[in-house]
Amino acid sequence: APSTQAHEVFADATQMMGKSAEVMIDVTGVDKFFGDFQALKNINMKVGKQEVVVVIGPSGSGKSTLIRCINRLEKHDHGQIVVDGVELGDDIRNIQEIRRETGMVFQSFNLFPHLTVLDNITLAPRQVRKIPKAEAEATAMELLERVKIPDQARKYPGQLSGGQQQRVAIARSLAMRPKVMLFDEPTSALDPEMIKEVLDTMKDLAEEGMTMICVTHEMGFAREVADRVVFMADGQVVEVGTPEHFFENPQEERTQLFLSQIL
Ligand code: ADP
Ligand code: MG
Repeated sequence: APSTQAHEVFADATQMMGKSAEVMIDVTGVDKFFGDFQALKNINMKVGKQEVVVVIGPSGSGKSTLIRCINRLEKHDHGQIVVDGVELGDDIRNIQEIRRETGMVFQSFNLFPHLTVLDNITLAPRQVRKIPKAEAEATAMELLERVKIPDQARKYPGQLSGGQQQRVAIARSLAMRPKVMLFDEPTSALDPEMIKEVLDTMKDLAEEGMTMICVTHEMGFAREVADRVVFMADGQVVEVGTPEHFFENPQEERTQLFLSQIL
């Protein structure tokens, strides 16, 4: 078994490994309870600007809860979360600012079925950022070019494949010009042939310098794109390292077991 000392070193997710020394997301001592059940236990994690962190771990380990706390879809009970210098506390202005700057993409695409692709993408910029319609639509078309489906602009979500819908969801998030993108198993609901097109879009984003936390079991993506991988289990960060570390030399028994099941 690994020594206590090694465990402490590897269980700390505060050592950033991105291209920048500046901190974008700073999570300190965060606990989260659902009633008596503790879903997050003393999470410490920093994400640098332009860093890509992939979070892996068994179902129920707290991955979704962690990223949902970062944009206040869930409220943490103890500890501190700071996004780009803004603390996520009870101040509603701070919460709104962080939500505006934090894009989130879910397993289920959550598009509005009664709106066209274009209207899905322009809705929030027009209503929240008060961007004029023509300008919002021009930006939306640029984003659809970026996710490689400009020809789908006038269609409704139900007329698109799952992979196309997820790329619309990504474009919709980008329309708010976020500083951070949070992905929660974005390819888990997709047929295998559509997974690559979504991962490619995410890879493009990473290469353009977006700060990202991605919950995903796509280890090929982790290997190619992640600066760091964080392994969670039972509401804790168990092990942190480069993708190479996880593929070649995972230290903790729980990590080894998990990887042996998914690889
Ligand atoms: P993961 O994303 O790693 O699968 P989650 O963060 O969704 O895990 O869940 C962590 C734990 O918290 C699970 O045991 C789950 O059942 C519990 N949990 C998540 N959301 C709620 C909730 N709204 N109410 C009660 N328990 C919850
Ligand atoms: Mg989850």
